[in-house]
Amino acid sequence: MKQIEITKSVPVVGEYDVVVCGGGPAGFIAAVAAAREGASVALIERYGFLGGMATAGIVTPLSVFTYNNELVVGGIPWEFVHRLEQMGGAYIEKPLGNVAFDPELYKLCMQRMALEAGVKLYMHSYLSGCVAEDGVISQVIFENKNGTEALSGKVFVDCTGDGDLAAMAGVPMQPQEGAPLQPLSTYFVLSGVDTDSELVSDAMHHNKQGVNCHCLPVREHLLSKAEELGIPEFGGPWFCTMLHKGTVAVNMTRTGGNACDNRDYVEAECRLREDVYRMAEVLRAEVKEFSSCYVSAVAPQAGIRETRRIKGVHTITAEEYVNGYHYEDSVSRGAHPIDIHATKGSSQTAIFLKQPAYVPYRALIAPDFPNLLVAGRCLSADRQAFASLRVQASCMGTGQAAGVAAAQCAQTGAAVQSADVPTIIERLKCYGATL
Ligand SMILES: Cc1cc2nc3c(=O)[nH]c(=O)nc-3n(C[C@H](O)[C@H](O)[C@H](O)COP(=O)(O)OP(=O)(O)OC[C@H]3O[C@@H](n4cnc5c(N)ncnc54)[C@H](O)[C@@H]3O)c2cc1C
Repeated sequence: MKQIEITKSVPVVGEYDVVVCGGGPAGFIAAVAAAREGASVALIERYGFLGGMATAGIVTPLSVFTYNNELVVGGIPWEFVHRLEQMGGAYIEKPLGNVAFDPELYKLCMQRMALEAGVKLYMHSYLSGCVAEDGVISQVIFENKNGTEALSGKVFVDCTGDGDLAAMAGVPMQPQEGAPLQPLSTYFVLSGVDTDSELVSDAMHHNKQGVNCHCLPVREHLLSKAEELGIPEFGGPWFCTMLHKGTVAVNMTRTGGNACDNRDYVEAECRLREDVYRMAEVLRAEVKEFSSCYVSAVAPQAGIRETRRIKGVHTITAEEYVNGYHYEDSVSRGAHPIDIHATKGSSQTAIFLKQPAYVPYRALIAPDFPNLLVAGRCLSADRQAFASLRVQASCMGTGQAAGVAAAQCAQTGAAVQSADVPTIIERLKCYGATL
């Protein structure tokens, strides 16, 4: 392939203690936590709003904050949920602490909390590179309508979901363990649904411990007619209340694809957009509760379950995870089932946890990168442990830990590998983390 070389001079438009890349569930919380710890914080986000998969992917509900009603992910994430609830934008389902939400209010609530904490938002800004020497990152580079810009930072937190900054800095990534990536799925919103019916009102509330919340009667009916009607591959379906009568979020499309390969992702996204409308047509024709439904929104981007994860100082294994292993440096927790969706076909492997699990600080740092932390989907875990930790509440929990740690390292000048972890844990407990 023909290559061209570009050399350009880039303005460094700001200098911060902590620069967080990616404003999804993990990044928003990391930025707020670092700012509340007294750090000057910049947050770089490619969209004009925060929320990541929750808003750009309309991935609802936010899972899971509690286990048998016991709070597992506390602190700033739980504060966010209550604030969103007060705004009329969240409905907390017991005993799991699944939180159904209004994505527009989710954006607004995150934005308010970030600005109140003093986080400087660099939105509509696509992270495109970094300057790093011997693993030490000095600047991140991003593109927006001003052109190419850079920010300097003492500590960087990669919350891009895909580990973009870590990959750009050269951090080694986890092997794929011989299995294909979990499928991509485009969420869509249906209005005109009979949400008062027994079928839908039961399915759209995700409130049962140890049970898959998919809508079994619809699943069985559609599977029995899949060939006859030429229904595209689907999972679930999972319906979730959007807090407004007649409207549900639908998670059922699925296709294989690698979201870190631009061409692959675009092709998958085009297939999924067609599938959204085909699925709506099938539901309208086959399920009486959906007979008057119409597509009122399609998620701006196809949902991404799995891409890159760093090879951290410690990799959380499935065995540690399902046995609730408590590490000396536990900084966060997770309680969602291990949830692996088949790339082909409609199956799913769900392993329900016997107790909530823990996340060690060492899963958020790589050995040779002294001023880089990660949080959210790109943390260091094997495929199975990751398949639980990928949900939003767990991503928020790791964001909180990474934000507190980043602020501490920026203040003391310590490498992230030499952070004072007992003090990080104390600070996290002060916020309300249940460790
Ligand atoms: C189909 C599907 C169903 C799911 N179901 C559930 C569920 O029921 N409950 C649940 O809690 N979770 C669910 N999840 C998982 C969950 O939504 C995500 O794993 C979670 O949001 C990850 O959070 P994150 O902050 O790590 O990453 P993301 O949410 O992906 O946020 C990353 C942020 O970084 C930004 N970004 C990325 N790259 C760049 C760049 N180069 N430059 C600038 N900005 C960038 C993105 O725009 C985004 O805002 C589901 C996911 C999918 C796909």
